[in-house]
Amino acid sequence: MTTSVTGRRGSRLVLAAAIVITATLTGPASRAASSAGAGGTPTPGAAGLGDPMFPLDGNGGYHVGRYTLDFDWQATATPFEAKAVIRATATQALSRFDLDFAGNTLHTVAVNGGTATAVRTGDELVVTPGSPIRKGAVFTVTVTYTADPTGMRHRDDAIEDYGWIPTPDGTVLYPQPNGAKMIFPADDHPSRRAPVTFHISAPSGLTAVANGTLVSRQPQPGGRTRWTYDSEQPIAAQLVQMAIGTFTEVDRTGHGGIPIRDYVPDALVGPTHTFRGLTPGQLSWLRQRLGPYPFRRYGVLVGDTDLGAALETQTLSLIPAADLLGTRVDAERNMVHELTHQWFGDSVALRTWSDLWLSEGHARFYERLYSGEHGGDSFEAAMRTAYEAHDQWRHDYGAPAEPTEPDLFKRMRYDGSALVLYALRERVGDAAFQKIERAWLSTYRDRAAGTRDYVRTASKAAGEDLEPFLNPWLYGPKTPPMPNHPDWVTTPVQG
Ligand SMILES: [Zn+2]
Repeated sequence: MTTSVTGRRGSRLVLAAAIVITATLTGPASRAASSAGAGGTPTPGAAGLGDPMFPLDGNGGYHVGRYTLDFDWQATATPFEAKAVIRATATQALSRFDLDFAGNTLHTVAVNGGTATAVRTGDELVVTPGSPIRKGAVFTVTVTYTADPTGMRHRDDAIEDYGWIPTPDGTVLYPQPNGAKMIFPADDHPSRRAPVTFHISAPSGLTAVANGTLVSRQPQPGGRTRWTYDSEQPIAAQLVQMAIGTFTEVDRTGHGGIPIRDYVPDALVGPTHTFRGLTPGQLSWLRQRLGPYPFRRYGVLVGDTDLGAALETQTLSLIPAADLLGTRVDAERNMVHELTHQWFGDSVALRTWSDLWLSEGHARFYERLYSGEHGGDSFEAAMRTAYEAHDQWRHDYGAPAEPTEPDLFKRMRYDGSALVLYALRERVGDAAFQKIERAWLSTYRDRAAGTRDYVRTASKAAGEDLEPFLNPWLYGPKTPPMPNHPDWVTTPVQG
């Protein structure tokens, strides 16, 4: 994500503390395929992956193979019926397992079409199938619920609500960091990726859009249309986008024939035209530095909201309208930032939330590099300013790879982390730095990777052990000297 330079959101309804309900649900006679004992004694899947920042996010005991989501959308801020079908493979013999699910009104849960018991506790939906699931078995969980498209939570960085974001005539999603669970029952951790099929039924005058490609668009009785989208590639829950509104689709072609399709509220097509037209050039510029664009398409979803931040939802970045209605320099920074994330954060996913510096640091690095070359602030001057504040940020928010604040999205993860990459580039030189970046992106394309992986990849690509150089930058209590800039100094820490 990146914070809008121009926008600020007003106060919004904040979702009340998660309701804890208990429900015993029954379905048709069990057809669960497994027998107890096969593949080991069935035990509960872990409630979370033990992430240092969000320990209960994600779930143990299975991997999701595909989400199929069905939304019977009605009108902005109006509850509607929803269904999620989750196809998964058990990685252990399971007596029960969890999904991450918050808000909304739960109706039924079935496993392989049969009886399941479902209990909600906090943000966990604990599912006990009628009979255990053997290790290696493919199973299907079907969850029906009434979705609450006003469900959102607030982050303490004062600019950010996340979850469902109502617009004047529809909705957009802002799932980062862990708000996908408010949209659908999910394995809601950035390291967990699966393809998603979206079926969205909406009034025919509106347009529905989601990550990936449009598969079909079928008229339905009652003046409605059913849109089906497929994400094409696996996607982390935090990067899911689904929007409904009076959008115009604007198509163009980017570098290497990449289709670019923007979805723009009708009234904003003209006013945002000039800056949206910069995407092909930005794609070209990034392609020269980072190598092939990692997905089959891209586009900008212009958010008709007072959202204070943009988001790198996969193949379709959400950019608030205000970000495209100000100065060219600000618009370019926001656009290049989210486009860079398609490589860093989307294609190469985060292993844990403590690795956020790899995603935001890179997005900020290329955002500032591009801006410096296109009439914006000098990259070096911005990095010098970040250097001065770096010890204070270390003190307040934790070292770049070791956040200490539950609210992750602090300046250390942005300019503070771009500064680590700047230091690395100063240390190894531009050619070796580009080699490192390309090695990272090609090695971990479509996979999750973390800080240790980056240090290892950098060392291998540069042909020298960079751990002694990078570790103090990433984990140390004090910001090291900046290579080639002996005159750069940090401001003494306050408080
Ligand atoms: Zn970002």
